[in-house]
Amino acid sequence: MMHKQDFSNANLTRLGTAARLNDNHMAADEHALQASLAAQVNPVVCDYDAVADVLLCLRQPMVLASSDGTVISVNAAAAELLGDDAETFVGEHWPSWLANPFQSEYATLFASAPLPRPGCCMDSYQHGPREMQLRRADGHLLSINLSLSLMGGVLPVFLIGIEDLSAQKAEIRRLSTLASTDCLTGLANRRSLTENLERQWQQCVLRRTPISVLIVDVDYFKQFNDLYGHLKGDECLRLIASALSSALPSNQCMAARFGGEEFVLVLPGFNAAMAELVARQVSDAIAAIDVSALGLPQGALITVSQGIASESCGQFRTADAMLLSADTALYRAKRDGRNRIALSD
Ligand code: GH3
Ligand code: MG
Ligand code: MG
Repeated sequence: MMHKQDFSNANLTRLGTAARLNDNHMAADEHALQASLAAQVNPVVCDYDAVADVLLCLRQPMVLASSDGTVISVNAAAAELLGDDAETFVGEHWPSWLANPFQSEYATLFASAPLPRPGCCMDSYQHGPREMQLRRADGHLLSINLSLSLMGGVLPVFLIGIEDLSAQKAEIRRLSTLASTDCLTGLANRRSLTENLERQWQQCVLRRTPISVLIVDVDYFKQFNDLYGHLKGDECLRLIASALSSALPSNQCMAARFGGEEFVLVLPGFNAAMAELVARQVSDAIAAIDVSALGLPQGALITVSQGIASESCGQFRTADAMLLSADTALYRAKRDGRNRIALSD
């Protein structure tokens, strides 16, 4: 275990101060000569105690470590982030706090050989914020930015700046959920559908596995709104969304609101026959909606029409072409009387 006192014992701090005091009594030329000699004989010395004192004052999490990665000092903000008293971390090897691959990377870099190590550029020893994960004393992983600054001198030391990214990450997660969710139904929105369909399409084409899409459109929904009001219509769309979710056959499949009273199911790995079975499940789930829970009369009926398109052996050039074909099939289901399923040609 190395302590910051080890550095002051080496009298590094005092060397610099003593040299400055003696200078006052020297003639100018003598001073210049001494300075040039000192530069040749003594490498730069650093006031390590002062560095540690500054670090302790800082409000951002900072750690001072020796050139082999041994912790010399941890300020209060860093101790709070690490999850224990500052003293408990002194003497530890700071790379051991990190999750891999960074733990291994820094552990190799801060092995016991002198700096710089062969094959490593200086950027490895000092860099700006780098995103990684840190394991707190209680074992929890924390997303952080870590900055590394090398302070050269007789005994080089490292200043490690840590920034807690967990609040930022949580906010990004919240915003990306908002950006990909339909606020009325809680299903994936159209943006998310487009991304998902494109990704699944690419994977299925690459793996030569089938993929299907199913467009679901509520029958006579304008009439529903006219009869029962727009708010009941909204409630009805929520119930339809949850019926669609319950009919999803696997976690790889997705139900999304395409717009208005239209929904799309993406079914990777499903051929036309399998997709038709899912469509039947959808019809059953819609038929099972309890209209009395909506405050509607017993006779009220909610039905949907569905169009299916499947890609299994090069029928379509793009995911959009497949979706368009499902829409054409849906149109046929409507034309043929609604409350039915139609497959694309
Ligand atoms: P079809 O059987 O041919 O599909 O008839 P439809 O009445 O369902 O189709 P149309 O396209 O004529 O009308 C769709 C209706 O869906 C009109 C619109 O007010 C309603 N709608 C779209 N989005 C919402 C919504 O978010 N909430 C409610 N309550 N209604 C919506
Ligand atoms: Mg429609
Ligand atoms: Mg409709």
